[in-house]
Amino acid sequence: GEGLPRPEQTRVMVVANQKGGVGKTTTTVNLAASLALHGARVLVIDLDPQGNASTALGIDHHAEVPSIYDVLVESKPLAEVVQPVPDVEGLFCAPATIDLAGAEIELVSLVARESRLERAIQAYEQPLDYILIDCPPSLGLLTVNALVAGQEVLIPIQCEYYALEGLGQLLRNVDLVRGHLNPGLHVSTILLTMYDGRTRLASQVAEEVRSHFGEEVLRTSIPRSVRISEAPSYGQTVLTYDPGSSGALSYLEAAREIALRGVGISYDASQAHVGA
Ligand code: ADP
Ligand code: MG
Repeated sequence: GEGLPRPEQTRVMVVANQKGGVGKTTTTVNLAASLALHGARVLVIDLDPQGNASTALGIDHHAEVPSIYDVLVESKPLAEVVQPVPDVEGLFCAPATIDLAGAEIELVSLVARESRLERAIQAYEQPLDYILIDCPPSLGLLTVNALVAGQEVLIPIQCEYYALEGLGQLLRNVDLVRGHLNPGLHVSTILLTMYDGRTRLASQVAEEVRSHFGEEVLRTSIPRSVRISEAPSYGQTVLTYDPGSSGALSYLEAAREIALRGVGISYDASQAHVGA
């Protein structure tokens, strides 16, 4: 793919929204693959016990596989659980296995329980441009670990009724973590997902989100696309499953926008490859 400016330091982006089914995992894996296709080195950390991001990236994550659970609970070095993603140069994944479901409880009694992921990332020596963390649909200790480890929060918002409901709670948690544990944390990116431009509802929600958040909302939105929802069952992102589809092009464009913003270049939507 075309080269994009690389960040000076690794950008650690936390993909969070405590609502399920809004497109966190889909966004994490497809954005990560897009950034890698643009030439970046990218690590996906799967922090959801469901392991959907691992599945979508074609990464083995049965119970015996070394996983992010071992990193968080057993202090295993991150480098020992990271696997290369087949077919996408520069893309890596730290998988989640089912044990992670217990970590939420096991972490409670551990030292520095909120900053175990941060420490693991700091000790990881491979050069990376981006780390994308796929959070579970809750605001428990796993998500707190992600918020402590990251600099940026990326919130996918589904263009549906009640899109903004519950976001207040996430934003308050971001404020709490910023105030106590991670002063640099901020919501940098809002991405509208499953956007259906033919419905009035979608455009009304989009307008509401834009007036509420302003600059953080990417110009590029992700359309509802069957190809996007089919890809995970083949252990692929839409970028390899159907590279020419509107879903693939929109994630490539969102990645371009994120990369340009990160180095302070304003994004020109008129040069977009797909409708923004
Ligand atoms: P979350 O991680 O927030 O729970 P997912 O990324 O798993 O959400 O998405 C929820 C469901 O919606 C999945 O079945 C996924 O395939 C589907 N989906 C996500 N984004 C799109 C899209 N742009 N078009 C069509 N289906 C989508
Ligand atoms: Mg998910």
